[in-house]
Order: sequence, then C-alpha cells, then structure tokens
Amino acid sequence: MAAAIILALMLLATAFPAISAEKQAPVITVQRPPSKNFPLGIYVQQTSCPDHGKLEALFYEAIRDLRKAIIRFADEYPEYSRLLEISFMNVSRREDAVITFSLAENLGDYIAFTNYTGAIPSYKSGIYVTCGIFKMGTREWVHGVILHELLHALGLGHAWQLFTDNKEPEPMLYVPSETREKVYPSTLDLYALYAVYYQEFGPDEFFKNVTLPKGIPYKMVVPYEVEFRKLREEAAGLRRDNEILWKALKDARSLLKEFEEANRGLGEAVENLSRENAELRMINEALMEQLADTALDLQLANQALEHLREENMILKQNLTQLVQMGLQLAEYCNKTILGLIRENRMLRANLTDIAEYAKSLETTFNIFRLVVIALGSGVLILVILLARSMRRGEAEEEENAIE
Ligand SMILES: [Zn+2]
Repeated sequence: MAAAIILALMLLATAFPAISAEKQAPVITVQRPPSKNFPLGIYVQQTSCPDHGKLEALFYEAIRDLRKAIIRFADEYPEYSRLLEISFMNVSRREDAVITFSLAENLGDYIAFTNYTGAIPSYKSGIYVTCGIFKMGTREWVHGVILHELLHALGLGHAWQLFTDNKEPEPMLYVPSETREKVYPSTLDLYALYAVYYQEFGPDEFFKNVTLPKGIPYKMVVPYEVEFRKLREEAAGLRRDNEILWKALKDARSLLKEFEEANRGLGEAVENLSRENAELRMINEALMEQLADTALDLQLANQALEHLREENMILKQNLTQLVQMGLQLAEYCNKTILGLIRENRMLRANLTDIAEYAKSLETTFNIFRLVVIALGSGVLILVILLARSMRRGEAEEEENAIE
C-alpha cells in the first residue's frame, strides 16, 4: 500500500513539471576562445574565386554587424559591456592571424565550415567558404552563413533551437537559404560570447552548454542603425498610410455629411408621410362614415328597387292582359277588314256590270242617234225635193203664161 502511494507521488512529481513547466530556456554549446588578446588578428586568404571580392566584402560586413550587435547588447545590458573589448585587426601574415578566411572550389559535403582545435589554447580558427555559394541562396543567406562561421571562429558551437522567441532564425543553428532579411546574432549568441571570453572554463572543460539568463529575452539583436532605418521606412509607410487614412477619413466625413443631409431629407419625408398618413386616416374615417351612409342609402334603394320590381311585375301582368286584348281586337279587326274587302270586291263586280250595261246603253243610243240622223236627213231631202218640184211647177206655169 505504502509502495503504491509513493509510486503515484513519483508519477505525479515527474508528470506535473512536464505539463506545467515553463518554456525551456535557450541553450548553446560553446568552447574555449582561440585568443583573448584583442584586437584579434584577421587574415583573408587571396584566391582566384570569381566571387572573391563579394565574399570578402560580406566577411567584413559580418564582422561590422557583429560589432554593431555587441554595441546594442552592451547598451541594453551594461553588465556585459566587456564584450566591447572584442575587436579585430587585419594582419598581413597568415601566421599572425587568429582568424583566417579562405575560399575553396570544393568543400565536399560542406557549404562552409570552420576549422578549430578548441582543446588546445592559443589556436587559430580557419573559416572556409565554397566559392560558388551565391548560386545556393540569397545574398542575405550567404551573409548569415559567414556570420555563423565567424561566431564559430570566436568559440561558439551550435545553438539547440531553430528560432528565437520572436520567431527569428537562430543564426547558430539555421538560416533559410531563401531569406530576404539579414540575420544578426541573438541575445543567446552574445551572452554565450561573454561566457566564452569572461567566464572561466574548468581545467579539463573544453566544451560547455550556456543557458540564457531569465532576465534576457531570447531575440535577435538588430543593430540600432538597421532598426532605425527599418523604423524610418516603417514611419514613411505609416505616413503614407496616414495620408491614405486621412483622405479616407475626409471622404468618410463628406460621405457622412451627405448621409446626414440625406437623413435630414428622409426625416422631412418621414414627417411629410406621417402627416399625409394622418390626413389619409381622417379621409379614410370620413370615407368609412360615407360608406356607412351609402350602405344605408343602398339598403333603402334596395327596398325601393324591390318595391319597383313588384310594381313592375304587376305592370307586366297588366301588359300581358292588354296584349291579349289587343290580339283579340286585332283578330276582330282582321275579320271586319276581310268582310269589307269581300264586300268591296262584290261592289266592284256590280260596278263592272253597271259599266258594261252603260256601255251597251251607249251603243244603243249611238245607233238610235244614227237612225234619228238618218231619218232627219231623209225628211230634209224629201222636203228639199218637194220644194224643188214645187218651184219647177211654178216656173213652167210662168213660162207657159209668157208664151
Ligand atoms: Zn556550424
């Protein structure tokens, strides 16, 4: 039972820190320094590499950037300002140099490396870089590689983590070959340099691991001038953004004004509408009353109509009777007319008979007249003849008397 409890406690004791432990402090391995006699002699081996000039320039640039980073670090953490003692000078003879810089056509599996013997005091550090390194990555990456080798040459080993707490690349472990941003030493690297030069190694201690103190944040130490330039660019950008924002604000303000005016117009429209609405409501009420009156009128009209309809019915019945009477009358008239027509026909026939009779009478009369005329003429002739014969008898008697 007791054993079980102890086991459980032990499990808790081991599991609990794993869950709740703070982020592990950054670590870097270091070795003994090549020399503490500042300034450290530097010698650049002349080669026929086509990129020699560019690479030599980048080597000196890396040295300057290291110095600038140290200046800032010493400024921010004065307790490590002795780092400012680390300085460099060119020497004309290879054997006088602490650090040599060489270019090589072929480094086998390496892009660059630093040859040092850490275990033996007063050794030389030899930096070697592949001549064709510019073909393998950006200029910023090549700078990062050379800075890495320079820090090796000063006694730093490799860091244990890829990135700082600000997510910047840790130059003592890894610099991406496509980087467009220059990489500078981290606070861990500079603190480790301090440990290399100003904290004693044990008599048999050649390598040791250095942990960044809790008070120092783990980040890249960007030289003041670089940060100043970045800030200036950022400020220019911000100024541009500001101008754009101001313009946008102005636009927005004028838009707001327009909106307010439109809103005012809307308010008036709403007022007008509600007034109209009230009027309409009144009209509506009046109409409703009128409609009620009209409904009453309509009812009365309906009743009147009903009455009229009844009257109409009666009239229609009367009319039907009258029509029937009319029909009967017409029939009677018809019959009378037919009788008259018939009588008329008969009269006309009588008239014709009378006419014919008259005609025959006329003919008879004419004949009679002719007869009368003829008789008259005969009588006249007889008279004449008689007269004549009488005259002749007288004449003869006279003649006879004369004789
Ligand atoms: Zn390395």
